[in-house]
Amino acid sequence: MTSLAALILQVENVSRTYPTTAGPLTVLQGASFSLVAGESLALVGPSGSGKTTLLGLCAGLDQPSAGAVTLAGRALGGLSEDERARVRNETTGFVFQNFQLIPSLTALENVLVPLELRGLRGAAARAAEDKARALLARVGLGGRLGHYPVQLSGGEQQRVALARAFVTEPRILFCDEPTGNLDGATAAVVTELIFELNREKGTTLVLVTHDAELASRCGRVLRLRGGEILADGGN
Ligand code: ADP
Ligand code: MG
Repeated sequence: MTSLAALILQVENVSRTYPTTAGPLTVLQGASFSLVAGESLALVGPSGSGKTTLLGLCAGLDQPSAGAVTLAGRALGGLSEDERARVRNETTGFVFQNFQLIPSLTALENVLVPLELRGLRGAAARAAEDKARALLARVGLGGRLGHYPVQLSGGEQQRVALARAFVTEPRILFCDEPTGNLDGATAAVVTELIFELNREKGTTLVLVTHDAELASRCGRVLRLRGGEILADGGN
């Protein structure tokens, strides 16, 4: 039996309904699953099946209409927006399909954002910068620290986003189609980095993907259709 302490994510009977002009629209219904620390999970399913919605609820970016999410031992339901932001900063990393770097910040400054949200000063701030530089070197961008997002290729931008996600040493990393906007060769580099960093740090991984190669590397696959979990199994 799995001990409760090893559970990093618990999703219990979660639903999400959006108000629309045509009335309430339920896009996720009765989703339940849990993840043990260190697992890697692929969320797959057709476009519109609720993958991004479920990922956002798991990561505390959004709140369910019904049901409960417990992330790293914290029940998200009872928390204020600020408290959820703090839990996200302390426990999670997030990588988006379209990179979502801040255009007015350099690669190095983008990677530092999650650490600066912690209000580090003095020696701690200098240590944070060293860590950000080291991570950018680790993803092969040691020569691009001062580049702005517009000066970087898609693959480079996604590698900056990966460094930003890993800089806080998150216990759990959420990725929403992280290779969806990349060509095959560039996607392979990003996939490799996700799994290498995951192995090095023991990060738990939740990946939304249409990429069969990426999904096949996860230990477990959750299939969604029409807002419901169809199947939950090994790879
Ligand atoms: P996927 O990531 O699997 O493509 P999503 O989770 O993005 O699917 O969306 C699931 C469904 O919810 C889609 O039909 C989408 O149109 C709908 N949806 C997503 N966000 C909203 C919203 N803010 N308001 C209304 N409907 C939404
Ligand atoms: Mg999506």
